[in-house]
Amino acid sequence: MAGFRTHTTVGAFVGAAILTIALLSAVVSDPVAYAGLFFAAIVGSFLPDIDSDSGLPFQIIFGVLGFVGASLGVAYVYKNIGTDFGLLMLSAGVVFFLVRFVCGALFKKFSRHRGIFHSLPMAFVAGLLVLLGAKFYCVDSDLAIIFCVAVIMGYVSHLILDEIYAGINVNGKGFLPNKALGSALKLWSGHARATLIMYFILVFLLFVTREELYYVWRVFHVS
Ligand SMILES: [Zn+2]
Repeated sequence: MAGFRTHTTVGAFVGAAILTIALLSAVVSDPVAYAGLFFAAIVGSFLPDIDSDSGLPFQIIFGVLGFVGASLGVAYVYKNIGTDFGLLMLSAGVVFFLVRFVCGALFKKFSRHRGIFHSLPMAFVAGLLVLLGAKFYCVDSDLAIIFCVAVIMGYVSHLILDEIYAGINVNGKGFLPNKALGSALKLWSGHARATLIMYFILVFLLFVTREELYYVWRVFHVS
């Protein structure tokens, strides 16, 4: 299978392509958004491997989630409980530990490598989560949608690359597919419950982002 470096290299190409389209269509005007878009495609390109427990993607994602959680925790305590420095540090530490290690351990326990995270609908779940987050932070609709597209394209590039690596035997034995073939670019996993939960989340996300999706549909329908 393709490694972290291969995935992020392809992700960078995807990011560059999306950035070019965004620039040509004048959707993005803010330099910070340029960098963000590029970064979003790269994150999408290694996101599926979050399910390989010892890998870098897991550590990066849960590390970042830990820091985000800790800063939200500190902001909450500062506003509602108290401004004591020790208390703020303690709350940051506790939230970081809970997210990074407790949630991380639970995630490891319930995820399986090349399981549900290596599937096409999960790419849309990831993209729509970004769209929802952008909507929450009142990002402009055009920009939010292009961020969503960047994550989906990065994610799909990962799945395609995994399939290519499974189809071509890199040990020099020609084009004999190995047993991983078909385990990345799929619509469901062997685990029925995980598949059901993912589709439930996907439908929910489609529902809550329906205005933005309708907007995209209208843009393409009119032009
Ligand atoms: Zn993978």
